[in-house]
Amino acid sequence: MAITNVTPDYSVDGQIDASQVDDIKASGFKTIICNRPDEESGAVAHAIIKKEVKKQGLAFHYMPIAGSGITADNVADLAKIWDGLEKPVLAYCRSGRRAEVVFQQAQLAKPVTSSGASKSNHAPTRVVIVGGGAAGISTASSLMERSTDVAITIIDPSDVHAYQPGWTMVGGGIFNPEDTVRTMASQIPGGVKWIKKAVTGFQPKKNQVLVEGGEAIDYDQLVVCPGLTLDWQAIDGLEETLGRNGVTSNYRFDLAPYTWELVTGMKSGKAIFTQPAMPIKCAGAPQKAMYLSSDHWLRQGVLDQIDIDFCNAGGVLFGVKEYVPALMEYVEKYNANLSFNSNLIAIDGKKKTATFAVTDADGKTKKVKKTFDMIHVCPPQKNHAFVSESPLADGAGWVDVDQASLQHKRYANIWSLGDAANTPNAKTAAAVRQQAPIVAENLLAVAAGSPPPFQSPQNRECPNFAPQQGQSYAY
Ligand SMILES: Cc1cc2nc3c(=O)[nH]c(=O)nc-3n(C[C@H](O)[C@H](O)[C@H](O)COP(=O)(O)OP(=O)(O)OC[C@H]3O[C@@H](n4cnc5c(N)ncnc54)[C@H](O)[C@@H]3O)c2cc1C
Repeated sequence: MAITNVTPDYSVDGQIDASQVDDIKASGFKTIICNRPDEESGAVAHAIIKKEVKKQGLAFHYMPIAGSGITADNVADLAKIWDGLEKPVLAYCRSGRRAEVVFQQAQLAKPVTSSGASKSNHAPTRVVIVGGGAAGISTASSLMERSTDVAITIIDPSDVHAYQPGWTMVGGGIFNPEDTVRTMASQIPGGVKWIKKAVTGFQPKKNQVLVEGGEAIDYDQLVVCPGLTLDWQAIDGLEETLGRNGVTSNYRFDLAPYTWELVTGMKSGKAIFTQPAMPIKCAGAPQKAMYLSSDHWLRQGVLDQIDIDFCNAGGVLFGVKEYVPALMEYVEKYNANLSFNSNLIAIDGKKKTATFAVTDADGKTKKVKKTFDMIHVCPPQKNHAFVSESPLADGAGWVDVDQASLQHKRYANIWSLGDAANTPNAKTAAAVRQQAPIVAENLLAVAAGSPPPFQSPQNRECPNFAPQQGQSYAY
């Protein structure tokens, strides 16, 4: 047991089992509330706990809160019975988090009259997060970890949350596709509300986001992280031949298995791997597809019969020069040909021909056609139109944030991270992992009226908060 005292009258814990009820009674608790739904994986059926609780002469209430979020009914139910409960109360769920947050919200909904809980009119900070991908879920978790004084809503229309780095592994025959997706509901932290709709626009001067159907959602603090969009249409003929004629891409969940099918079926011929102009998410993914495929052909003893071409719209193998020598060892090991400044512009699937715009050293561009037996395409990428056409965008369409604080340059209560932001780092989940705690810390500080603790000393562009004397640079 790891009981946390929220107030003298109310404590929370993670999942308990029947054998612990004895100790709970000995600790002085008079009432136990189960907030964990029976159907949740790993839950002990509440009836088992209830039987033991009753045997010990304590009161028991089953008030399940779904992992997808605390509802207004959950809050109202607790507020309604609170005054009549024998105290102190111990509430439990999976980690204790839902039990804690529902209590905080019930206090605000109906000031409770316990000895320890104050009668507060203070409302929690309403945080709206646009996008429940790597960045949205990480930020919600980071905020929940740091504060109970937030009411978080994630807006995302998707039923599933994808672990996209896993798609490279699916294309390499290492992961099963189903291992790379979870239901969105299972990933949204307990206590966070989910609006399953697409955001269509921003009204930063009104502190509102618009969702499909025209509804406006109010916020105190906004986190914008809807990722980016893949521009398949930018390559003539690509969409109609994807998944057929030897044309594949690990950038789509449903196509990654086709990559592995092509790789395992290939014993000789020409394999092309393409990379578009930056920025793209995971700059390494187009190359990883090539290395994993080549390694399979090497182990099958067919590598000598396969002509491998890496066609890169850029002029270098990888943007971080320190990695290039190690990558070149593999390029040489697999005898891959590197074609730089070679931008895929069209595919004719039936003729198995790809057309590239190839720019020479003098800046002259000509069209070059290459035939293939298989081609792995990484599509060009851009921001969603609802972001790039909004007041939040910079000139290139990305959310315009200060790269150190991740605070919007014009709206002090707006934050962005992940692929949608205009930070200069690579667009990766690895970057999100570093960014999410920074957004959480900074947002909570600003909501409390303090300067963001993480910002660069040279950040003079954001007029709202000057850096503190002697404050260290966050990265
Ligand atoms: C093939 C591949 C390989 C990769 N490999 C790696 C790797 O090895 N290492 C690594 O660190 N990263 C890798 N990445 C990149 C990594 O997956 C992304 O950088 C990361 O997912 C970005 O997180 P995000 O939350 O910004 O965007 P996402 O995770 O894409 O999430 C965006 C969310 O926003 C939602 N959304 C979209 N439109 C709207 C809307 N209108 N309203 C509300 N919500 C919306 C989407 O449904 C989605 O849930 C890879 C990506 C791919 C595709």
